[in-house]
Amino acid sequence: MKLVFATHNAGKLREVKELIGHKYEVIGLSELDDLEEIPENEPTLEGNALVKARTIWNKYGLACFSDDTGLEIDTLGGAPGVISARYAGESKDPELNMAKVLKELSDKEDRSAQFRTAVALIVNGKEHVFEGIVRGKIAKEKSGSKGFGYDPIFIPEGYDISFAEMDNAKKNSMSHRGRAIAKLVDFLI
Ligand code: IMP
Repeated sequence: MKLVFATHNAGKLREVKELIGHKYEVIGLSELDDLEEIPENEPTLEGNALVKARTIWNKYGLACFSDDTGLEIDTLGGAPGVISARYAGESKDPELNMAKVLKELSDKEDRSAQFRTAVALIVNGKEHVFEGIVRGKIAKEKSGSKGFGYDPIFIPEGYDISFAEMDNAKKNSMSHRGRAIAKLVDFLI
């Protein structure tokens, strides 16, 4: 079965292909020569994921899924959450985003946080939403150079190294996106 993953992000596409590529033929938007940027203006991760999946379903009528992820910090009431990419401004600069998080937590005891991913799937016109969460804490400073986004400052529960210090396979085995995609795969088989 062919599944369109509504993303232009080559790194994410590679990660998801590693997770489900042996079961499904996953293609990204670039492989459909579709360059349209789908706006992510909804107030929730689920809403953004659904808008992206609906756009592709309405355009191509192909089974498709999309994801939206946020870093949710307990003591900040779940911020940056749905605006994680743009937390420090429209430049979507991960360095500025991490600097802002570290500054906001500088005087806080509680550094607990989670990554949460919502995946929206549309098959035969029916919508399904899956959620994946990994709990952890925000480090006092950045460490590691692998991964992307907030990885250098996120330490998953049960570990004392950041996501950016883990290889891909290790991170995928416990990550928010990995968990949400595993639910999608369970649903499809
Ligand atoms: P998106 O929904 O995947 O585009 O992610 C929204 C924001 O969360 C972006 O700023 C990403 O950098 C960040 N993000 C998403 N997934 C991860 C991850 O696995 N590690 C670190 N940051 C992530």
